[in-house]
Amino acid sequence: MEVTIQVPEISDDTACEKDHYTIGGSRLSQFITYIRKVYRLRDHLADITDGRQDPTYSTLLVALAVFFCGLLRIRSFNALEPRLKETGFLKLVGAPSHLSHLGSADTVSRTLQSMNLNSVRNVVVGVLRKAERNKVFREGWIGSYRYVAIDGWEPIQSWNRHCDHCLVRKVKKKDASGKVIEVEQYYHRYVVAMLIDDRMDLALDFEPLLPSDLRPGPLRNKADEGELTAAKRLVRRLRQTYPWVDVVVADALYANGPFLSLLKELDLGGVIIVRKSSDEPLKEALDLWADKPAEQTFEDKAKGERIELWDCKDIETLDTYDGKIRVVRAQVSKADNDTVSTWCACVIGKPGNLSPRQVLRVARGRWHIENTGFHQWTKRWQFAHVFTHDNTGMQALYWLFFSAYDLLTLFLYRQLKSYGRDRAEVTQTISRLIDELRDDLARLFLSPWDTS
Ligand SMILES: [Zn+2]
Repeated sequence: MEVTIQVPEISDDTACEKDHYTIGGSRLSQFITYIRKVYRLRDHLADITDGRQDPTYSTLLVALAVFFCGLLRIRSFNALEPRLKETGFLKLVGAPSHLSHLGSADTVSRTLQSMNLNSVRNVVVGVLRKAERNKVFREGWIGSYRYVAIDGWEPIQSWNRHCDHCLVRKVKKKDASGKVIEVEQYYHRYVVAMLIDDRMDLALDFEPLLPSDLRPGPLRNKADEGELTAAKRLVRRLRQTYPWVDVVVADALYANGPFLSLLKELDLGGVIIVRKSSDEPLKEALDLWADKPAEQTFEDKAKGERIELWDCKDIETLDTYDGKIRVVRAQVSKADNDTVSTWCACVIGKPGNLSPRQVLRVARGRWHIENTGFHQWTKRWQFAHVFTHDNTGMQALYWLFFSAYDLLTLFLYRQLKSYGRDRAEVTQTISRLIDELRDDLARLFLSPWDTS
C-alpha cells in the first residue's frame, strides 16, 4: 500500500505547537511531518559537522540514520547495516534517489566518532528552544515552576574493552573456580539533566565524568571525577542554555553546601533530598521537630495514602552555605500494604513559597529521571547497548538518541493528545507508539521529507 503525505497548508515559519493542525497519513508520516514542520529537525541535523574529508555519505544522512536507529529501537549498528540498503529506510531518511545504500555499520560509527559535539548537541538545544518559544513549558509544573532533575547515569560497563575516556574501578567477582577475585571494570558515566513534569519528561543535557588523567585541576592523575564535579559543569551550562529553568531537583548526594551555593549563585532554586540525620541541615530540623506532632495531615483517598508533614524554615546551620534553608519532612502511610515511608527534602530559592505538600510532590517527582529516563532508556530503548566505544562517538550518539526521545515525547503529548489516555504506564504508551511507527516503515514507499 502506498502511503501519501498530507502536508498542512502552513509555512514553516508559522508552524507552531499551538496550531494543532490536522496531519494525515500513517502515524510515521504524521510524526515526520511534525518534526519537519514544527521543529525543523532536518535543518538542525544539517548543521552537524564532522572531521571526515570528502565523505561519500553526508553527515546529514548518517545523522538521520542514527536518529531513526534510536527512535525505532534498532538494537545495534550491525542490525542497522542491512537496513541502510532497504528502500523503506532510504526513503525514511530522505536519501537522494541515486544512492542505493548508506554505507556500513563502520561508516556510521566512524562518522559519529568524528562529529563536532557542540554541533550535534545543538540539535537537542534547537528542539527545546523551539518548544520553549512555542510555549510548551509556559505553565510549568507545581507552583508554575520549570523543574529539572539531575542524576548520574551509567549506561555502559565492560570487563575488557576500554577506551581512553573509560573510568576504571576495582570490582570483586567470582572466577571460573568460584574464588572471589578483584578485577578492573571499565565504564562510562554521565550526569543527565531532565525536565520533569506531570507527564512530559524531556532530556535537556548531559555531561560525562572524566577519567583521572583527563580531568583538570589539582586532582589530575589522582582519581576519576565524581558525579558532583561533572554536575557542577552541567548546571552552569544548563543555566546558560535554558535560562527559563527555575528549580533543580536532585538526590541526597547533592545536599551539600558547595552545590547549594552554586545553585544560589546561578539564581536557581533547589529541592534536594536529604537523608543523613547526622548531617546539617536535617540534623537541626530533626532537633527542632523532636517529638512534635505533624503540622499538617492529609488523606489522599485516590492513592490510599495518609500524609503527615513537618516544615522547618530558615535553618542556617550549614557552614558551607550562606543563606537560609528550609527542610520539609513527610511521612507517607499506605493503607493497602501498611507501610510508612519518610521523605525529607531541603529547599532553597524560588520554591520556598511552595506548600509542604507541594514540596513532597516535587521530591517524589525526582523519580521521573530514574523511571521515565534511565529505566526506560535501558529496558525499552537500546540506549545501554555499546553501539560504538569511543568518547566522541558515544556522546554524539546520545545527543541524536535524546533528540529522538524528546521529539517522540513532544509528539505524543502535544499532538496525539488522547493517545494512550487509558494507559497509565507512560513507557508502555511510548512503546506502543513506536511499534506503530515500525509497522508503518514497512509500508513506506514515498519519502516523508519530500514536499515537492
Ligand atoms: Zn571507554
